[in-house]
Amino acid sequence: MTPALPLIGNRAQAARLIAAVDADRVHHAYLFEGPEGVGKATFALWLARYTNCTAQRRPCGTCRNCHLMLSGTHPDLIVVVPDPERATRVITVDQAQALIRSLQLQRHSARRRFVILDPVDALNDESANTLLKTLEEPPRGTQFVLITSRVASLLPTIRSRTQRVRFGPVPAAELLTWLGERGLPAELERASGGSPGFALRLAGGEDAERRALREALLAAVGQPLGKLFAFSEAEGKKEEGVNRAALAVDVVEELLRDAVVLSQGRTPVHADATPTLRRWAAALWPGGFARLAVHIAHARDRLALNVNGRVVIEALLTQLNLELTAQPSP
Ligand SMILES: [Zn+2]
Repeated sequence: MTPALPLIGNRAQAARLIAAVDADRVHHAYLFEGPEGVGKATFALWLARYTNCTAQRRPCGTCRNCHLMLSGTHPDLIVVVPDPERATRVITVDQAQALIRSLQLQRHSARRRFVILDPVDALNDESANTLLKTLEEPPRGTQFVLITSRVASLLPTIRSRTQRVRFGPVPAAELLTWLGERGLPAELERASGGSPGFALRLAGGEDAERRALREALLAAVGQPLGKLFAFSEAEGKKEEGVNRAALAVDVVEELLRDAVVLSQGRTPVHADATPTLRRWAAALWPGGFARLAVHIAHARDRLALNVNGRVVIEALLTQLNLELTAQPSP
């Protein structure tokens, strides 16, 4: 019997992994990659319960393994997230070493001990190198699941030691049904880009935050540099500087995507910004979009490397302004 999945979309990927568990032919390190909020981590946790549940119909949710895993206290389910003591998203070398030590202990009661690194792109070079050997040859009965939405930023040495499982956006029809069942507006399907997790965040108030940021950004871009820098400074200074800067990069990317959509004669997600987006589309099509995509990727890499948020936003917006005001080449 097919177990009830905690996922919408991505069923083929899930079915392949379930079949591998059933046949006891799992790879020791999976790399779950794909957009934020499509269920990668949720499914990894579910797979740990499915693998270790002792009931007939797995995962039952009530046996000892399920219960401890659901409450986050099972000693054989180790979830490593960025060090909360640090302002940036980093899984430190100390955390990597502590993980290796804990894997030297005997398993408690699990068939397979699960180690979930979420997100694995939070490893820096040092902590990644510390883990390479363990990742290649984990202790018997240990299952790694590495999670990322930024696969391109991973060290090749990490990628090559894993089996990739690609998660995609949820198909529109499925996401619309899911939103409808929760009484959420259908517009979230497009605004979230096919990500149920992102749709929930938008519904939970992030939409208002994004809207404010978008409006401030649209007002600043195209203005003299002084205004642009005032925006960068204000956003870089916010309490959660890094998160705000990352959000600003997201918002720039969304607006650029909208401008592309508009230049193809379709309706943008942020239709209220259409007049500005039309100017952007005229100025940026096609080379400017490609160059800015590179700058956006670069901005995200720099934020991950703990470069000051204000500096990153300022550099990105300066490029955007340059592209928008560049004279077309004769
Ligand atoms: Zn169970």
